[in-house]
Amino acid sequence: MPRDEPLLPLSISLPHAHIHYFAFSCRRCGRSVDVGIRRAVRLCGDLSTEEFLARMRCRECGHRGALITVHGDPRPPDVVERDGPLPVTLEE
Ligand SMILES: [Zn+2]
Repeated sequence: MPRDEPLLPLSISLPHAHIHYFAFSCRRCGRSVDVGIRRAVRLCGDLSTEEFLARMRCRECGHRGALITVHGDPRPPDVVERDGPLPVTLEE
């Protein structure tokens, strides 16, 4: 997606919060942090997705500005059944 296209609000992913999560990556050093969708929506508040990403500060290098990607639980259904949901998908 070109960078000048507006990003969707984070809350659009809420129906998938039990099986998906966000990864926020530093634009400078590439450090990446997984964050549950419900937690990310809460932290974002009333900011647009662009505003939220621009404000994020990297704990490693101090750079402001993050990239966002959406990830799904890659495990097969029987493993999910046995081991339960990914901890990151339980974040509130
Ligand atoms: Zn960084």
